[in-house]
Amino acid sequence: MILSTCLAHDVGTLGRVTIIQQAQAVLFDLDGVLTPTALVHERAWRRLFETVFAHYGVSPDYTADDYLRYVDGRPRYEGVAAVLASRKLTLPIGTPEDEPGLDTVCSLGNMKNDLFTAVLAADGVQAYPGSVALLEELRAARVPVGVVSSSRNARRVLSAAGLDGNFPVIVDGVHAAAAGLPGKPAPDTYLEGARMLDVDPRGTAVVEDALSGVAAGRAGGFHPVIGVNRGAGRDALLEAGADLVVNDLAELTSAAREENA
Ligand SMILES: [Mg+2]
Repeated sequence: MILSTCLAHDVGTLGRVTIIQQAQAVLFDLDGVLTPTALVHERAWRRLFETVFAHYGVSPDYTADDYLRYVDGRPRYEGVAAVLASRKLTLPIGTPEDEPGLDTVCSLGNMKNDLFTAVLAADGVQAYPGSVALLEELRAARVPVGVVSSSRNARRVLSAAGLDGNFPVIVDGVHAAAAGLPGKPAPDTYLEGARMLDVDPRGTAVVEDALSGVAAGRAGGFHPVIGVNRGAGRDALLEAGADLVVNDLAELTSAAREENA
C-alpha cells in the first residue's frame, strides 16, 4: 500500500520489478500485451481486399496505407465499408448473420474473421519475448495469472503463441458475451477474472496497452494498473489511470533489475 503513494512518479527499476512480483495476482490483456496480434489482423485484411479487388476488377491495389487510413481502429464492418468507398465500389450492407463471402459488406467482414483464423493457423504469432520472460518469473514466484481479453479469438491466439496452459483463468469475448458482461472500459471483465482467481482487485495487477483497458483496471479498483506503451503514449496511459507505464514487460523482470543495479 505504501507503493501507491509513489507510483505516479518514477519508481525506478527496482520499484517496478518489486511491484509486479509482490502482486497477489496479475491479469493480462492479450492483444498488444502478450502477443503482437495486430500483425495477424493486418495480414488478414490484406488477403481479404486482394481477393475482393481481384473479384470486382477494382484498382489501385490494396496497400498498407489503406489499412492505416480506413481499417485500423474501426469496427470491422465500418472498415470494410470505408475501403470499398475509397475505390467507389458499392455493395449492400447485409446483416451480421451473412455467410462469409463477397456479396455484402457484412459477408466481407465475416470473411475477414475467417481469414484471421486462417492466417493465425498458417503463420502463428510470436509472443513478445519480454512478456514470456515475465510470465516465467511470475510462475516461478507462484503468482497466479489470468488473461482478460475482449477478443473472441483469445484462446486461438494463446494457442498459436504457445501460451495455452499458462493461464488457469481466461475471460475472453466468448465468456463475456455468455455471462452478459459489458466490455472495457467497464471493469466487469477484469472483476470477473479476479473473482475466478479468488483474489482481491486491490492487490491484483492489471497489465494493458489500450486506454480503455487501463480505464477498466482503474474503475475496478485494481492495483497496480500497468500501462504498456505500444503506441497509445505514456502520458495518455497515465492519464487513463495507469500507476506506471513501461515500453516492454521485460522492464518488470529481475533481469532488468540486475542490469540497472
Ligand atoms: Mg490490447
